[in-house]
Amino acid sequence: MQDDKLKELIKNLVQEYVAEPNRACAPIIQAGVFGTVNEAIAAAKKAQEKYEELSLEMRRKVIESIRCGMRPLINEYAQAALDETGMGRFEDKVAKLTLAINKTPGVEDLRTEAETGDNGMTLYELSAYGVIGAITPSTNPVDTLVCNAIGMLAAGNSVFFSVHPGAKNVCKQAVEKLNQLVFDACGIQNMIVTINEPSIEAAQELMKHPDVALLVVTGGPGVVRQAMTSGKKTIGAGAGNPPAIVDETANIEKAAADIVAGASFDNNILCIAEKSVIAVKDIVSYLILQMEKNGAYYVNEPDVIQKLVDLTIAENGSPSRKFIGKNASYILQEAGIAVDYDVRVIIMNVPKDHPFVVKEMLMPILPIVTTENFDEALCVGLEVEQRLLHTAVMHSQNIGRLNKAAKKFQTSIFVKNGPSYAGLGFGGEGAATFTIATPTGECTTTAKDFARRRRCVLTDGFSIR
Ligand code: NAD
Repeated sequence: MQDDKLKELIKNLVQEYVAEPNRACAPIIQAGVFGTVNEAIAAAKKAQEKYEELSLEMRRKVIESIRCGMRPLINEYAQAALDETGMGRFEDKVAKLTLAINKTPGVEDLRTEAETGDNGMTLYELSAYGVIGAITPSTNPVDTLVCNAIGMLAAGNSVFFSVHPGAKNVCKQAVEKLNQLVFDACGIQNMIVTINEPSIEAAQELMKHPDVALLVVTGGPGVVRQAMTSGKKTIGAGAGNPPAIVDETANIEKAAADIVAGASFDNNILCIAEKSVIAVKDIVSYLILQMEKNGAYYVNEPDVIQKLVDLTIAENGSPSRKFIGKNASYILQEAGIAVDYDVRVIIMNVPKDHPFVVKEMLMPILPIVTTENFDEALCVGLEVEQRLLHTAVMHSQNIGRLNKAAKKFQTSIFVKNGPSYAGLGFGGEGAATFTIATPTGECTTTAKDFARRRRCVLTDGFSIR
């Protein structure tokens, strides 16, 4: 560390001790990791007040420091997330984290708008909220953390991360690292904080904390609903159940490859991943054949399908944690089917009301529903999506049908002729994000969504037309 940075650190620590001498009783366990929600938010508040004074150029340096500092650690964090959560695939976790680091927009996302006329000039600028409370999922633990941190700090905020208890160790490690990278760039500690023992109670404390200006919640329906009743401004990114429609005009070979790639990516734990296929009867057999060529395992026997249901759905009707995000080969093996190659996804024909179709399984199990024609496929797709308005996928060469489906679904993300993850900016155009806000309408969130829009008026001047 350079001398001036070391001096700044010592100065900050002394100042903090003078302001709060009792703090020594509750030591920081790792940089940015506190014992209580109150302590963490107080530190983040203080940090944000200093950060607010910095130039935009300094914010750019902070974001660059995060990107450069995290890149060499991608494999390490991917492995740690896999080891701790037991969900997903190493190589896909590497791809997700790489995407978050490289393609999440920074300060450039904050665009100014201006109106000018005879009465002068009015600017609309995007400024910081203050301290953001971000609740993150177990399924993309580090990716969401990095992606949110880049976007939120680019917009001038500090952030308290309420992480999933099932991913707390890797998240604490990431918070500590991110803190160090921010400090290296700007000399401010505690821009990114969390607590040592995350819990649902702590997340609820966060939701009511007076010093938290905005909640950004990435998770299942329960936590999003809870946050939306908190009385605070909330960006809610909840669950999805994306269907993939395939009609007879589609390029079936490509559709099969894209669907297998999307549905098997990180073992289907992404909210945007294809959770079912709705295919018209003329092409369904050929589609299945092509999916098998791309690594899908087709289960034909009704008793084996039932065995898979009994195995993967718990008594209370929820998908069994034991199988969420596990490899398809492992799930087959537990069902008594030995396979000697790496199966990407398990597929089967089922009716539209089958539990694998209606539940968000978050496993590499992909049910296929057959319909008479495209119109029926669209009706079934809409039913399966359950008006979550999250994500839908369609493979077709018929522009009219694609247009009709896009309008009817009204989903935040609609991917045409590609794997679902193209909607995250992975192999598709657009910024990367891991927080897709459907219930509150922001769609794919980036720095601009973590900022308050403000109007700044100058009368009688600066209109030079
Ligand atoms: P989860 O809902 O179990 O947990 C998410 C977070 O909320 C965790 O930090 C957890 O500790 C907290 N939490 C859970 N219940 C809470 C409550 N009652 N009060 C306060 N906090 C609570 O979700 P998960 O299993 O970690 O992640 C998978 C779910 O998240 C899926 O439903 C998936 O679709 C969704 N998800 C959505 C997006 C998106 O961008 N829309 C992204 C990733 C995941």
